[in-house]
Amino acid sequence: MEPVILQIENLKTSFFTSNGEVQAVRGISLEVHKGEILGIVGESGSGKSVTSMSVLRLLADTAKIKEGRILFEDKDLTKFNKKKMQKIRGEEIAMIFQDPMSSLNPLIPVGKQVAEMIQTHHPEVKGDQLKQKVLDLFKMVRIPEPEKRYKSYPHEFSGGMRQRVMIAMAFANHPKLLIADEPTTALDVTIQDQILKQMRNMQQEFGTSIMFITHDLGVVAELCDRVVVMYGGLIMEQAPINEIFDNPKHPYTLGLLASIPRLNQDKSKRLVPIAGSPPDMINPPKGCPFAPRCPYARNICAAECPEFTKISPEHSSRCWLLDPQAPHDHNPFAK
Ligand code: SF4
Repeated sequence: MEPVILQIENLKTSFFTSNGEVQAVRGISLEVHKGEILGIVGESGSGKSVTSMSVLRLLADTAKIKEGRILFEDKDLTKFNKKKMQKIRGEEIAMIFQDPMSSLNPLIPVGKQVAEMIQTHHPEVKGDQLKQKVLDLFKMVRIPEPEKRYKSYPHEFSGGMRQRVMIAMAFANHPKLLIADEPTTALDVTIQDQILKQMRNMQQEFGTSIMFITHDLGVVAELCDRVVVMYGGLIMEQAPINEIFDNPKHPYTLGLLASIPRLNQDKSKRLVPIAGSPPDMINPPKGCPFAPRCPYARNICAAECPEFTKISPEHSSRCWLLDPQAPHDHNPFAK
């Protein structure tokens, strides 16, 4: 396996609100390898976006990284000041968000915005050379008539085209790591497919590692090499992409898989949503956070959160069912 480029160790991030401390991320550890696309999957409130915002240090003022280390090429980003973080963002670590409209300035032509991104980190690139770099990027992400589109404003682009501009901007400085937070959620499926292919092409061209945040396991299947499944601010399971689909071990992963349509599935069978709602993160459950929704929950599940069990060298899952020593008594949540 390629060397590790990003290592998150026991990250705990909370929001301090008038209602109390929202424990959004409660001690997660993961790695992203060089050139790898790692998918982070989970429902809203699972902690996946807060994890990515913690890496970029783009958290709201009410939020705080309470514990843990975020090592990017062995440098701990939690120790970086604002200036150092600004330098690293956009150059070594780039990002793409769900809504390109909120990331693009509506008053500045898109070409100029991409040029500014290059100039911020490489002021020596100017004039025709700078414009040519932007046009080359537009060609790479397949924006038609790049010369003409250079001067267009964001509102003159479709949602898919705006996201292509964001991809061009993200890859402008050949970042080592790209964090993409639900970049295709607002797009229809055909455009989504084109954008995912575009991201994969750019990733291969530049050898960039990608941390791809999504709620959609279908998107993960199309793009990612490995996947981390999050729930209730914790990692529930992580595995290479084939293992997650062929040999899922965690009841929450099984629930996610049962709720997505597959081409080869029996058409007479209905998709099964996961009943119930995510836990209250001000008072997170003491035991397994999935216990109130889990059809296999036992007494111990409500009392204690399980540790990870290794299924294979790269596959681990956090569930009492995988521990042969755990008491398999009755389900306290059974109706
Ligand atoms: Fe379900 Fe218990 Fe496993 Fe949690 S630990 S997923 S509640 S069986």
